[in-house]
Amino acid sequence: MDKPLYYWLPNWAIKSVLDKCCDKCKTSYNKQDITAIAIKPVKNKYRFCVEQMCSKCSRRSLTVFGKSEHTLEGMCYFLLEQINRKKIMAKAKHLRKEKEGPITDTEAQAFIDFVQNAESYSEVLDELGIPTPKKSDENTS
Ligand SMILES: [Zn+2]
Repeated sequence: MDKPLYYWLPNWAIKSVLDKCCDKCKTSYNKQDITAIAIKPVKNKYRFCVEQMCSKCSRRSLTVFGKSEHTLEGMCYFLLEQINRKKIMAKAKHLRKEKEGPITDTEAQAFIDFVQNAESYSEVLDELGIPTPKKSDENTS
């Protein structure tokens, strides 16, 4: 993983984590404390959440966001949309710096076509250069 996890998160999600502190030792969280991105079923809906680990006492906790979808697929697409938007913005910024030109429509369309034709979610993750999530063995209840 060449980029820290927070790099892929929408800014509003990072901000929510930064607004919190460890419930055990009250140390404020920073971006590097984000250790996992997850989708959690809550009352027949899927919610996007992140796990953060306190840098001081290593206590882990979850931030569950208000955004919910009725299907897992819907939530995956929501997340991809957020990641993609962030990636396009980063690329546009980079290009502006390099060549003083925005991202081309062709580049954006090529990616949209790819997402629409992708066989699976993991294929899209591969294209984005994000490691495919392994089956987690955590048993949070
Ligand atoms: Zn702590």
